[in-house]
Amino acid sequence: MPGPAVILKQLQHLRSLATDLQTKIDQAPRQLAVQQKKLASQEAAFTAAQEHLKQLALNIRDKEGSIKATQAQIKKYEKQLDTAANKKEYDTLKSEIAQEQAHVAKLEDEILAAMTETEEKTAQLPEHEKALRKARADFAQFEKDIQERLQRFAAEKTRAEGEMNAAAASLPDEVRPQYQRLIAAKGTDCLAGVHGRSCTACYTEVTSQMLSELKREMFMHCKNCGRMLYLED
Ligand SMILES: [Zn+2]
Repeated sequence: MPGPAVILKQLQHLRSLATDLQTKIDQAPRQLAVQQKKLASQEAAFTAAQEHLKQLALNIRDKEGSIKATQAQIKKYEKQLDTAANKKEYDTLKSEIAQEQAHVAKLEDEILAAMTETEEKTAQLPEHEKALRKARADFAQFEKDIQERLQRFAAEKTRAEGEMNAAAASLPDEVRPQYQRLIAAKGTDCLAGVHGRSCTACYTEVTSQMLSELKREMFMHCKNCGRMLYLED
């Protein structure tokens, strides 16, 4: 049967284990949310890429319509050339035609650029889709893993708490009420290890007599900070 100082050390260890597990349990929803956000932004990027392709196709169609209308206008001007009343009217028509032809050339260049972009973006789409499928699968796996981890953490925490109760119950009757009162009031801060010869909470040296009593696993308070002491390894 270990002495109270050793039991206190076990209790401290178990309590910090339970606290760590609770921290991990509390962090899980945030970790999941981060992954979810990452996936959502990938989904959005893919949808945007598809939308962009649709927009490019619409632009091409619009520009083709404009070219048709402009070419019709050019034909009209060309017809008017035959019936031009004078040189001034003739030159004006020639200049209009040149302007419209330049407009058509510009539209054709733009269509060519849009078609090139469409080709490139369409070629990238399968890679993009593959990456998205992988991201979805990764997220599903992450979600599954985190559920499993949460169950394990919860089980480990329950076990640590059970061991803590058993350890507290094994404290001598004259120590247990003090321990329970202090732990309820201050949590783990009511306990401190002794490292070398010093209390690790307040760095005060313990006396030689206290040290030898701690070595005999006896119940001891730090004379400076009042914490219940145990010997660290
Ligand atoms: Zn102390």
